[in-house]
Amino acid sequence: MQNRQLRFLTYFIMGYMLLAFVWWSFLLFTKNRDAFQAKIELQQIGMAAEGVIKSPMDFYVSDRYQELMSAYRKQERMIMGETIFLSLSLLAGIYVIYRGYRREVASSRQQRNFLLSITHELKSPLAGIRLALETIAKRGDQLSLDKRQMLSQRGIKEADRLNKLVEDLLLSARLESAYQFHQEPLDLEELVERVVLQQSQQNPEAAIEFLPDAFLGRVSGDRQALTSVIINLIENALKYSSSPAKVTIRLRQQDKMMCLEVADQGIGISAQDKKQVFEKFYRVGSEDTRKTKGTGLGLFIVKELIKAHHGTIKVTDNQPQGTVFAISLPIITKKEEELSSTMASS
Ligand code: ATP
Ligand code: MG
Repeated sequence: MQNRQLRFLTYFIMGYMLLAFVWWSFLLFTKNRDAFQAKIELQQIGMAAEGVIKSPMDFYVSDRYQELMSAYRKQERMIMGETIFLSLSLLAGIYVIYRGYRREVASSRQQRNFLLSITHELKSPLAGIRLALETIAKRGDQLSLDKRQMLSQRGIKEADRLNKLVEDLLLSARLESAYQFHQEPLDLEELVERVVLQQSQQNPEAAIEFLPDAFLGRVSGDRQALTSVIINLIENALKYSSSPAKVTIRLRQQDKMMCLEVADQGIGISAQDKKQVFEKFYRVGSEDTRKTKGTGLGLFIVKELIKAHHGTIKVTDNQPQGTVFAISLPIITKKEEELSSTMASS
């Protein structure tokens, strides 16, 4: 039997149990009332025969009636309590099954997406490298220097892509076990400036604007890890925008935190996907319809790195369109900075 059918069968059985239970509780409720009525009548007859009461109405002011009434109310409360408790337990059971099923579906979708994207991501740079090398090997002497250089550059670019993929896979595996960071006081402004320069050179058509506030504090962190965070966010902003992309990066100090915002005017992320984009291997939409290259590891790595630096990351909509990724990292005090420098140098 398929997963879906099994789920519906479970819901049906649980739903049936819920209805049956409510029905039995109702029946018990009415039987209890009938029994109460019968007891009243019996007691009325008995007490009238003994001459304790003169008319049947006198029974309703007697102690015996009060005792019967309080026992009846107690039973009524017991039935109600049991009904509510068991109904809620059944509803909670249905909810747990539903949530489990949703997770199962999401995880199998991710696995499928991962397998499809990793196969594609591994095969396409390899094919590119092979093609470039084959062309040089077969027709190298007929090609102009420019053409040969262009082919070599293409091969190097593909090799870099392959390298990034392997590094991302290794890093994400390491991040899930205990990963050791090299902490040192860092100037985020300098780090962002470098990445912006590098990305602007690689994407000359894009407009990447960096707007840092004056007099910013420093954070304690791993240079390589935080550089990778900035690269990932800027790369995404460029990748998920139509050309020419416009990316604005802001860096400011808020209370004891450094806030870095990467805003684009690209395709945006739906509310539902915003909840999932930080999951490992999650990519929006299905692999068949997706045009961009990627494995869905970038934001997972970013989230884990920021978590390891005691920071937070949030994703919101940009206005009028696009996405904003905002990171907050704790600023270190002068004392902590000195301590961190001493520890780094020792
Ligand atoms: P890679 O591992 O190479 O970075 P990726 O870019 O697909 O691959 P993530 O960076 O983890 O993976 O992003 C996950 C998904 O979130 C992307 O596939 C994309 O659909 C969506 N996404 C991320 N950043 C943006 C953005 N700035 N605008 C719109 N969608 C985005
Ligand atoms: Mg990415």
